[in-house]
Formats: sequence, C-alpha cells, structure tokens
Amino acid sequence: MDIKKIGVIGAGTMGNGIAQVCAAGGFAVVMTDIDDASVKRGIAAVAKNLDRLVAKQKLSAEEKTAILGRIDTANALDAVANCDLVIEAISERMDWKSDLYRKVAPYLSEHAIFASNTSGLSINTLAQAFPEKLRHRFCGVHFFNPPRYMHLVELIACKETNPAILDNLEKFLVTTLGKG
Ligand code: NAD
Repeated sequence: MDIKKIGVIGAGTMGNGIAQVCAAGGFAVVMTDIDDASVKRGIAAVAKNLDRLVAKQKLSAEEKTAILGRIDTANALDAVANCDLVIEAISERMDWKSDLYRKVAPYLSEHAIFASNTSGLSINTLAQAFPEKLRHRFCGVHFFNPPRYMHLVELIACKETNPAILDNLEKFLVTTLGKG
C-alpha cells in the first residue's frame, strides 16, 4: 500500500487533529467540511495547536509552516478523489455518515481505503451505505482525542474488510505515523 495523499472529511475536533497528525508525518492532506466557515475553523485550530508547540519549543517555526503547507482545504467531496486513504471524522450520526458515504463513493479512487473515526456506530451498518464492491476497502480507524497526543488507534473491520488492507493500514499507522 502506497499512501501519498490522505483525505480527512470533517474538520472538527477529531478531523483537524487527524489532519495535523498526518501532515506532521509528512503526508499531503486535504481536509474537507460542509462549508468554508467550518473548514476555516478547522485549519485555524491546527495553526493554534502548532503555535503552542512552537511556543514550547517542541517545533520550529519552519516545521510549523511546512506542516500547515501540507494541508489543503476544500468544501467539496471531489477533493478526496486522488487520495489513497480517506478518513471520515464527521458528526456521530448514522444517517449523516451513511448519506456522506453514498455521495462520496463515486469519487473514491480505485485503490483508496476509506475509514471511519466513529466512536460507537456499527461499522457493519455503516458499510451498507457503500456499494458492495467497495466494502472490502472500508473499516473503522478510531483515533483518540486529542489525536496528536494519544498513542492508541483502534482498527475495526466490517464483515467484508479485506484482512490484508487492515494489516497494511496497521503498518502505516504504527511505522509511519508512530501510533500503536
Ligand atoms: P465535531 O462536532 O467536532 O466535528 C464534526 C465535523 O463534521 C463538523 O465540523 C461538521 O461541520 C462536520 N460535518 C458534519 N457533516 C458533514 C458532512 N456531511 N461532510 C463533511 N463534514 C461534515 O465532532 P468530533 O468530536 O470531531 O467527532 C467526529 C467523529 O469522531 C465522530 O464520529 C466521533 O464519534 C468520533 N470521535 C470523537 C472523539 C472526541 O473525543 N471528540 C474521539 C474519538 C472519536
């Protein structure tokens, strides 16, 4: 699995935190939300977090600029079209997430992995919103709050998730993003 670009849908608490972790790991990220104002709030939260790290001398100003420079923002779903991994972190609503999956499915690239950061919704029920042929590339990826500090990430398979894809995603999270 060759992950170069990561899409994060939802720029709230978890979405902007996950976008920051991925960009800090050196990856190109596109972070989307429903409107410009929400996307702006998300990127402003990342900038504020990075400023804190710079103030504590845990990050240089150059590193901050580089991390922010790797995060593109958009408010349209086609922005994730060329992403290798798409992480969904929108509000915890089965109906909203299902509606989003139906809308985003046509834009996903043929090899993209799509993972939900849901805390408690059924991954098997969520999977139903994707066409059957996409379900083997769908799973849960549960980052904890705040994603930049919390080491643990849980992976949750749906009935159809290809185990090899889950293994590869685990390798990516552990060896590349430093999670456990
Ligand atoms: P949040 O309310 O901070 O952010 C949700 C964002 O999703 C908002 O910016 C909203 O505008 C956006 N959104 C809603 N519908 C959308 C759509 N159709 N397309 C694009 N964007 C949309 O929520 P959060 O706390 O970041 O939670 C996100 C997910 O992460 C949830 O599934 C939640 O259960 C899970 N989670 C949350 C925490 C936590 O402690 N906050 C921890 C782990 C997992």
